[in-house]
Amino acid sequence: MLIVLIVLAFGFNAKTQNKVLIIGIDGCRPDAMQEAKTPNLNKLMENGAYTFSAQTDPISSSGICWTAMLTGVWHEKHKVISNDYKNPNIKEYPHFFRRVKEQKPELKTYSVVNWGPLHKILQEGDADIANYLLTDEKVTKRVVDLLQDENPDVMFVQLDEVDGAGHKYDYVPESKKYLEAIEKADAQVGQMLDAIKSRKTYDDEEWLVLVSTDHGGSNFGHGKDIPEHTTIFYIASGAHVKQGEINQQVNVTDVAVTAMKYLEIEIKESWNLDGKAVGI
Ligand SMILES: [Zn+2]
Repeated sequence: MLIVLIVLAFGFNAKTQNKVLIIGIDGCRPDAMQEAKTPNLNKLMENGAYTFSAQTDPISSSGICWTAMLTGVWHEKHKVISNDYKNPNIKEYPHFFRRVKEQKPELKTYSVVNWGPLHKILQEGDADIANYLLTDEKVTKRVVDLLQDENPDVMFVQLDEVDGAGHKYDYVPESKKYLEAIEKADAQVGQMLDAIKSRKTYDDEEWLVLVSTDHGGSNFGHGKDIPEHTTIFYIASGAHVKQGEINQQVNVTDVAVTAMKYLEIEIKESWNLDGKAVGI
């Protein structure tokens, strides 16, 4: 009897809702991020798993890399090879929201981005809310509002202005204006994390926060297969994360798979994904 009661008690305690927030900071080079003052990202790393030597797609342009992050496969499969998004192979390799919805249609999927083309891989029904807003400030405000007033289960957010600063002032740790843009993005991440904590249902929820970027940069640009462009960071933070620096190779394609695993979506062999779950 006692054992039954204990099991019941633990059973109830464990019945929390797993939720995922993915924040993508466009064009944020890991070495510059480490040089910038980023108290919010630091806190996520302290409570999480992280690496500064993850890899993005060798064609290190935004459309290619974001598609790899959100489908879990490299460009050879998703077929987005430029920011024009011509003929993406979303029938075979859809946005991971679609796979979430197939297995758990009750889960709410939200995507809020600054850079609109990101949504070209969304198909009818994939996202309950898909907004593209033209400044990071508007994106942040919308995300904070949605976290406070709505009930997302998985949300993808893209901030774009760090990449803008890289194109204008260069993507190097010595570039003061670039570091300032990273610090601004960090503050916006902080606002989103505060919004999670102030949710009325926060005590019944277990949030996994994933933060990464699509590519780095150098000489005021990116797109090449060189370490300055293809080396990215990856942070996974939350209650069920193995803390500390990650020792295995992490790739941009791991983000969607990690999110799905956390949401208890069965990762099917037949999906032929390139990514794996990392840090949880
Ligand atoms: Zn980009």
